[in-house]
Amino acid sequence: MKFVTLNDVLPKARAEGYAVGHFNLNGIPWVKAILSAAEEAKSPVIIASSDRMVDFLGGFKTIADLVSNIGDELEITVPVVMHLDHGQTISRCFAAIDAGYSSVMYDGSHDPIDKNIADTKRVVEHAHKNGVTVEAEIGTVGGNEDGLVSGINYADFNESVRLVEESGVDALAAALGSVHGKYVGEPKLGFKEMEAIAAAIEVPLVLHGASGIPLDQLKKAISKGHAKVNINTEMNMAWIEAVRQSMAQFPDSHEPRQLIEPGEQAISQVVKNKMEEFGSIGKA
Ligand SMILES: [Zn+2]
Repeated sequence: MKFVTLNDVLPKARAEGYAVGHFNLNGIPWVKAILSAAEEAKSPVIIASSDRMVDFLGGFKTIADLVSNIGDELEITVPVVMHLDHGQTISRCFAAIDAGYSSVMYDGSHDPIDKNIADTKRVVEHAHKNGVTVEAEIGTVGGNEDGLVSGINYADFNESVRLVEESGVDALAAALGSVHGKYVGEPKLGFKEMEAIAAAIEVPLVLHGASGIPLDQLKKAISKGHAKVNINTEMNMAWIEAVRQSMAQFPDSHEPRQLIEPGEQAISQVVKNKMEEFGSIGKA
């Protein structure tokens, strides 16, 4: 299966007012569940591995080949983007590109803006030479971001515009109040800031930490320029709940498949629900 890039799916989504779901892998069942849900929904899909999960999943090449091979086995026809989530260094992004990823995120949000721009630009230059798209980040998404627990730090307007214009990225994750992992209380998204940034940049916005954002706020964020929405926690919670139930139901089982297979269906259900919410069903 040949992967497509963010540019093959996001500009269309932004123009038509829907978002393409980005779904993180946490194991092989996620690959099958996400791909088959996308095919059933006739929806474009972004499959992502978070940089911190890459070694656990077997390395960049294993992941890219696995997704591609399972895509062939399942005869997937919808557009699939293979994306690196929260690339931690320039060289990790290069490694993902060399291994066959069609898209990478370079997360320089923890650095001063000038360094973030310079480093993102280096990733963009190498990526674009290889036909790969790049997502950048600015501001701080709350909660646990790659093991770094932090408060929310809104993306600055001028810095957001500079980052996009000077680095040449294809999508921007501008942190505006969302949180990775579970929310404590109601999320407070900065819609005014969102509107201003979206109007000033040419590329679509990316919403991180979307698990747990109420549907009305999610739809508002999509209508205000978010064409990519990242989901991880909700799938994982559904998987864990399903596996917990089957373990309780079959306490003496020595068949891993019997215990973990319901988890795969639970992931698929979450993916389909999200595609419905994002408006991407039938858009492949
Ligand atoms: Zn994120």
